[in-house]
Amino acid sequence: MSAPNLKRCADALSGWYITHYRELPWRRTNDAYSVWISEIMLQQTRIEAVIPYYHRFMQACPDVFRLADIPEEQLLKLWEGLGYYSRARNLQKAARIIVDRYDGKLPADYERLLELPGIGDYTAGAIASIAYDIPVPAVDGNVMRVLARLTGDTTDVLSSGAKKHFADLVYQMLPNEHAGRFNQALMELGETVCLPKSSPDCASCPWQSECRAFADGLVANLPVRSKKKPRRIEERLVAVVCVAGDPPRVLLHKRPPEGLLANLWELPNALMTEEERLFPLEIQEQCRYVQELACAKHIFSHVEWRMSGRLYQMPHIALPNGYEAVTLRELQQQYALPGAFRTYAALLPQLLHKEDM
Ligand code: SF4
Repeated sequence: MSAPNLKRCADALSGWYITHYRELPWRRTNDAYSVWISEIMLQQTRIEAVIPYYHRFMQACPDVFRLADIPEEQLLKLWEGLGYYSRARNLQKAARIIVDRYDGKLPADYERLLELPGIGDYTAGAIASIAYDIPVPAVDGNVMRVLARLTGDTTDVLSSGAKKHFADLVYQMLPNEHAGRFNQALMELGETVCLPKSSPDCASCPWQSECRAFADGLVANLPVRSKKKPRRIEERLVAVVCVAGDPPRVLLHKRPPEGLLANLWELPNALMTEEERLFPLEIQEQCRYVQELACAKHIFSHVEWRMSGRLYQMPHIALPNGYEAVTLRELQQQYALPGAFRTYAALLPQLLHKEDM
């Protein structure tokens, strides 16, 4: 079979998108701010999971000015559950630059968008094309998969040059007008039809008659992905410390300003092999071990935490720097506890009540 006719494929895809696109809240407008927020939220997170967060976020931060101003704790609370909190912090850093340098309007310029914190090739391409109709590609994993299959391309999608390679292919297909619609159509095809692994719905695909992978029976073999380095596994102890009082409180610790979950509040925890680091001495001396709690697992991009929980009690004492004792209500309303502690957070209503001392 000959190589697919890319222009014909581009036309077929745009036509397909007009009748098959999903109604999503951020698609009701081409406003650059909405496109930006949705694209950042959609990194590493499924569409269905993003929708309620998107509504809540847009209600609290309807424009760049509010995003630039909102207190960090409140911003992180809005982001709680989405994970990868550096995305929220970068949004705010970028918002402040947009206010200072661009009068609160995201620049209609791909290179200037790229200079903003947290905005990489893909997001800059999505904002520039969807909001401003600038004909630039927006290549993510979905787009690479779809194009690798269409053209029978065996480039390793995890290799350093892969994005540029597939972006060059997109340039050959991009229409002069409605570049944003074309990019969205590519994403949509990857999200709803040309699905990962061996489950694409080729019978519903507008490219079936042109697709090399389909013709050659190579759908399950493409795209080519080299094996990733395995994640590091960390065995950790997590302490749920109930602090006596009326109402009872739970002990939180603020993480350091750099590294994983930077600056976020957490339940005190330490590597299993470094149990002595679980609390500073002044807390350790006051804490009374009560019982073991459930085990839990959380996967970050490069590390996996395998956690064993322990319940402790302690009196309400003056806490060292970096520690706070908060009520359940305060935790729910003001503190963004990372999803890694979800299992233990779910136990808190029961544990705090039980330990009502
Ligand atoms: Fe993907 Fe199948 Fe369409 Fe080819 S025909 S692009 S493999 S869904």
